[in-house]
Amino acid sequence: MQSILKVQGVSKAFGEQQVLQPISFEVEPGERICILGPSGCGKSTLLQMVAGLLRADAGEIEIAGVKVEHGRHFIPPEKRPLNMVFQDYALWPHMTVRHNIEYGMKRRKVPKPDMHNRLERLQSLLKLEGLMDRMPAQCSGGQQQRVGIARALATEPKLLLMDEPLSNLDVKLRTDMRGELARLLGELSIATLYVTHDRMEAFTVADRILVLRGGTIDQLGRPQELFEQPASPWVAQLMGYHN
Ligand code: ADP
Ligand code: MG
Repeated sequence: MQSILKVQGVSKAFGEQQVLQPISFEVEPGERICILGPSGCGKSTLLQMVAGLLRADAGEIEIAGVKVEHGRHFIPPEKRPLNMVFQDYALWPHMTVRHNIEYGMKRRKVPKPDMHNRLERLQSLLKLEGLMDRMPAQCSGGQQQRVGIARALATEPKLLLMDEPLSNLDVKLRTDMRGELARLLGELSIATLYVTHDRMEAFTVADRILVLRGGTIDQLGRPQELFEQPASPWVAQLMGYHN
């Protein structure tokens, strides 16, 4: 089976600071991978390179069989078959919820009947009934994040990128939404790269967890593998072992 995402020897420095050493991994179709690591370890940097919002210093990125970054060859974000959900939601403040969700579909010239069907489905999937004609500012944080997710799914991307999508929510809502989100992603079986610094979130959402530390991959494996065979003292500590 062809991988949805191949990252090969991708590295990044900001000035003197080598944020990511050359790293390589692949995401299979429908697979949810959580990138787990402490604040500042390069998680967002990695995601932004996959999205095309940042150029890699070296290495190759391939999405659904198409090289999107390879030497001087570079495919810009809007032409990559992916969509992204941001930590701060980044909804268009001057558009209603409905228009926020429709926007990407209109740009991609999705036919009206399809657009209508997708809107209906996303509305019930993400519990947006009654919110469609509100402005983002009239929605709570949790509701805004649901809109952000609906907007990202509306264009039916091959790859979904989520950067700490729940970290701006309060603890109770975050716990509720992490279960919901895991169910939703499982149902849709859409390949997802999900960045978090929250171990419980990674355990709930991920098929495999990629532990990033000091710009390298400490371990990439199923949650149970990380738990039973931690590859480093750091992973062991992350899994709650104490020495
Ligand atoms: P994380 O998402 O894991 O918290 P980031 O990928 O945002 O980490 O950042 C990794 C490191 O790179 C941090 O030390 C951060 O300060 C630095 N960094 C990120 N973006 C830039 C930038 N545009 N210019 C300079 N340094 C940056
Ligand atoms: Mg980040």
